[in-house]
Amino acid sequence: MAGRAWRWREALRAVKVAMLGSGSRGNSTVAWTEQTCVLVDAGFSGRQLASRLAAVGVEPEGVDAILLTHEHGDHVRGAGIFARRYGTPLLMSAGTREAVSGLLHGGEAVEEYRPGSRFGIGDIEVDAFLTAHDAVDPVAVTLTGRECGSRVGVATDLGRPTAAIRHSLAELDVLILEANHDEGLLRVGPYPASVQARIASSHGHLSNEAAARLAVELLTDRLLAVHLAHLSAECNRPELAREVVERELRRAGFDGPVTVVPQDRPGPVVDIPAERARSGPDQLRLL
Ligand SMILES: [Zn+2]
Ligand SMILES: [Zn+2]
Repeated sequence: MAGRAWRWREALRAVKVAMLGSGSRGNSTVAWTEQTCVLVDAGFSGRQLASRLAAVGVEPEGVDAILLTHEHGDHVRGAGIFARRYGTPLLMSAGTREAVSGLLHGGEAVEEYRPGSRFGIGDIEVDAFLTAHDAVDPVAVTLTGRECGSRVGVATDLGRPTAAIRHSLAELDVLILEANHDEGLLRVGPYPASVQARIASSHGHLSNEAAARLAVELLTDRLLAVHLAHLSAECNRPELAREVVERELRRAGFDGPVTVVPQDRPGPVVDIPAERARSGPDQLRLL
């Protein structure tokens, strides 16, 4: 892997981010600068990951590392095959490594990180902080461009909003946040009581209402866009999730876009400095 990643590189000007798709049938987010490209989770087949990356303009060969947040299938499904096919290093905790051992054939380059730690992948700084989700070592991450300081939070599978989550997700430019279910639809939905209880528990997923409350808590002048992710196909609807979260954010003074990431195709590519130039006073000065 020498020469591909893990080293300081020259300055960058932008961080771009796109979710390749999100929901209980697969999750993956790609973030890249001019020098570094990181995939957070790989919950689609190897072929799907490659074609979805191509759809947002990223070559699969150009991915410097795949960071796994936890062992659930909707986050790791294609990790092993993608890593072998493209020689991509895998980053995961020791606990996740043990839990996904069935996906690994031994030929992959695996690096372990400690949940709760910060580390660099090329010129992207990663903060992998623990969540309350029901997995071995569940983390959510922030990705920060070392030179431009642009900061993205990828926060799905949270369980409940803990102090660590609130602290780590402060001062973001782009927030990717789970809005998993509508509390009413979950109660009347098709899941057996045990699954309903797991989803709604403090180790499952955030409801639309809980996502709205957390998004408002995380709101700063800096926040440019909110992407709602990991929607339940059975117990949520995109327009409902958006309506609930957007209403609370607008009340709190947020005027940026609130969008829902689809399951079956990538969401939009967000170019953080470009978004800031469009929405901030800097552009007026340039004009
Ligand atoms: Zn999970
Ligand atoms: Zn998940």
